[in-house]
Amino acid sequence: MATYTGSCACGSVRYEFAAEPVFSGHCQCRDCLTDSGHAPLMMIPQASFKVTGTPKFYERKADSGNTVRNAFCQECGSPLFGLSSGFPDAVLVMAGSLDDPGRFVPQMVIYTDSGHAWDYMNPSLPKFGKSPAGS
Ligand SMILES: [Zn+2]
Ligand SMILES: [Zn+2]
Repeated sequence: MATYTGSCACGSVRYEFAAEPVFSGHCQCRDCLTDSGHAPLMMIPQASFKVTGTPKFYERKADSGNTVRNAFCQECGSPLFGLSSGFPDAVLVMAGSLDDPGRFVPQMVIYTDSGHAWDYMNPSLPKFGKSPAGS
């Protein structure tokens, strides 16, 4: 398997991981909605994740009660990945920051309860009102 690599828009923060995602999907929760109608996310094991450069973290409480820390580049502002206290061994990578976003294969849409009609999702993907994993 080829290592996944990605970076922010300006390239000062880069990351890589050599593991297949345990989850790939679109999230329409209110927090992901800040950037767009949804966020394309890949959940990967934290042990396989390496970062170079120094992202800035924005910490918030999610609806689930978990503490979520979103990493973004302090130079260009690109969202890169997130860490959730509910999944301490995992990293949620924003698939749009991959060097090759075409490797992202969404399998479902989560948090459709907070999605919007204008954010039209692929009808063939399974939909979940919240998260099937109970995040
Ligand atoms: Zn940057
Ligand atoms: Zn979300």
